[in-house]
Amino acid sequence: MSIIFEADVSVAPPQIRSPKNFEALLASVRQVSTEVAASHAADVDRQARFPAETLAALRKAHVLSAAVPATLGGAGCNLSELAQLCSTLAQACGSSAMVLAMHFIQVGCIARHGQDDDFFKGYLRDHVKHQYLLGSMTSEVGTYGDTRSSICSVERTADNFTLNKDATTGSYCGFADGILVTTRRDHDAAANDQVLVLVRREDCTLKQTTSWDTLGMRGTCSPGFRMESSGSIKQIIPGPYSDSSARTMVPYSHILWASLWWGIAADAVAKAASFVRGQARDKPGAIPPTAKRLAEVSMQLDAMKNNWQSAAQAFDAIAPDATSQDQLSSMAWALRMNNLKMSCSEAAPQIVHRALQIVGILGYKNDSPLSLGRHYRDALSASLMISNDRIAAKSASMLLVYKDVA
Ligand SMILES: Cc1cc2nc3c(=O)[nH]c(=O)nc-3n(C[C@H](O)[C@H](O)[C@H](O)COP(=O)(O)OP(=O)(O)OC[C@H]3O[C@@H](n4cnc5c(N)ncnc54)[C@H](O)[C@@H]3O)c2cc1C
Repeated sequence: MSIIFEADVSVAPPQIRSPKNFEALLASVRQVSTEVAASHAADVDRQARFPAETLAALRKAHVLSAAVPATLGGAGCNLSELAQLCSTLAQACGSSAMVLAMHFIQVGCIARHGQDDDFFKGYLRDHVKHQYLLGSMTSEVGTYGDTRSSICSVERTADNFTLNKDATTGSYCGFADGILVTTRRDHDAAANDQVLVLVRREDCTLKQTTSWDTLGMRGTCSPGFRMESSGSIKQIIPGPYSDSSARTMVPYSHILWASLWWGIAADAVAKAASFVRGQARDKPGAIPPTAKRLAEVSMQLDAMKNNWQSAAQAFDAIAPDATSQDQLSSMAWALRMNNLKMSCSEAAPQIVHRALQIVGILGYKNDSPLSLGRHYRDALSASLMISNDRIAAKSASMLLVYKDVA
């Protein structure tokens, strides 16, 4: 990887932390990207192994607590800043960036929905100290990609719960210190009457049920798992999952995923640019024919960046204001998030494809410095990761009643 594109963030930083923290974090992530993630990315991909070196380096630099509010010891990054961290890392290793993004999504849910709760405040302070890695189990055998319904239920006694789930996909769950699990509120609850439960690694057993030998995103290590867990009822995130999903999990997921898909595409375009410059050096005074293709693909890359950055800025403008939280549960916001996810997940593989047309056979070869195989395969996961068809069906039903489309 030769170039780290900067995804400038021009939004006002949140009130509760010093901007210096973010600059230091970003510098650390840049360093981890170029010095650690980039050199292990091909091996992580080849062996479908967890990017352990990169996560160790991120832990050491205290990047895993970037989403924890400064009042609890974290960096208090807003969503624009978290997205910039993910997009930077994605230019070196898509799998590592996806792990970081999924982790930030879970921390964001705890920080935003457990912020008034003593247990979760204590957990976040511990998280800053120990740099826990958090994974997610929303998908389930029988409900598949429908995150807003569950079959499993959380069973409560006076102080404790038990929760067993058969998950179809659980990224890096075998390496996580905690997992946020969606479940029905109790065994009489409807499928969509869900809560989110923090399951600690030491309180659960995980039996791997499927393999993870995929085209791309191989380093996320995301097979199916049968989980059996127990814990204190304090570990159930306050409020219904319908709230934490609409106000945090969906916007964090779609914005952070879009930012890292952009990072993968940006690295592919950087390789294409270096190829075109090489051609120009070989024939001084003439503009290579591939330069026009480069101009066209960089336009698409820019449009993609503007899409996730403006969504992140809009979220940051709404999010700190408790009275505006209803906007995040509105149909207009849900449609915006759906559009962002569908358009960026389609744009990423298209951009990589166009970069490949520029680079040609050197991009097609697996053993070339300009190889684009991993970028291509990683980007293909984007439209499946919560199926675009499923999202389009939800948008379609909203658009039947939503009139205010400007
Ligand atoms: C890299 C990666 C990491 C992941 N990590 C996790 C994780 O950590 N935790 C987790 O819980 N999950 C994770 N997932 C799972 C993911 O979020 C989805 O739940 C899963 O990919 C959906 O699986 P599916 O395609 O079999 O199911 P479905 O979404 O059910 O799709 C199956 C088929 O049905 C079609 N379809 C579905 N609904 C409709 C509709 N309404 N109209 C038309 N067609 C429709 C789809 O297009 C598709 O062809 C991960 C997925 C990937 C790719």
